[in-house]
Amino acid sequence: MTTTGVRRIVLLTLGWEELPKSISVHGAPPQERLREPTPGVLLQTDGGWVLLDTGFNTALIRDPALYKRFYPSVEYIPVLPGPGEPIEESLHDIGIDVDDVHAVAVSHLHHDHAGGLKLFAGRVPVHAQRREVEYGLSNHPEPEHHAMARIDYDDPRIDWRLADGESSIAPGITAIPTYGHTPGHQSFMVELDSSVGGGGFVFAFDAADLTENIERELAIGGFVGVEAAETVEPIRRLKKIAAERDYPLIPGHDPHAWPEWTQHFHERFGR
Ligand SMILES: [Zn+2]
Repeated sequence: MTTTGVRRIVLLTLGWEELPKSISVHGAPPQERLREPTPGVLLQTDGGWVLLDTGFNTALIRDPALYKRFYPSVEYIPVLPGPGEPIEESLHDIGIDVDDVHAVAVSHLHHDHAGGLKLFAGRVPVHAQRREVEYGLSNHPEPEHHAMARIDYDDPRIDWRLADGESSIAPGITAIPTYGHTPGHQSFMVELDSSVGGGGFVFAFDAADLTENIERELAIGGFVGVEAAETVEPIRRLKKIAAERDYPLIPGHDPHAWPEWTQHFHERFGR
């Protein structure tokens, strides 16, 4: 019997970001600051492991001159978890090699999500929304002013698999367009195989950074080409998709929810 879903979920914390809460919640008091995890999601499928989002490009943080260019604001401080590549280190911790990752998908091209694509260029298919990549490669340097570093994603060896809207990435992994945070942002629905109990989860990524974006339907603070209030529609849509299936909706950068869900999946699937 062929399987139809994901067999194991592992949440990764590929770094942290110290930032004003107003980046996550539109209109939050400017002095309120958060330390948010940088998310990655590792999914075991029949065809190998699939990685959702890739964290920071370490070179842009560790090289002082590049840091000045790509992180010009003292308000926003990226933090790396260790001395090496966060993806390699976190995979190593759970006994998986980077070569075991057979496909990658990015929610969007912000520097805290697309920075690890360099590890996969020329090696595995990379899924994204077409309009996200078109935006990211167009009109230089406009995207750089919106926290996209084109060196993260302009490697001609990247084997893009570009979608126009909802798309299936692997059995049990569906990309759901949630445009607004960036022009081609996508969230993901992950459905477990019946052999591990079935059920599923919706990963909002930056369509909803925090639990309060979801519970109180608060507009997010970062958006391109739309008004703040328009970022609530994708949140409501994700809530509906999750509620209809009785799946939890997991925010992308919540300092409490992310470690709690990380622990939840550890306990459910083992370390
Ligand atoms: Zn983002």
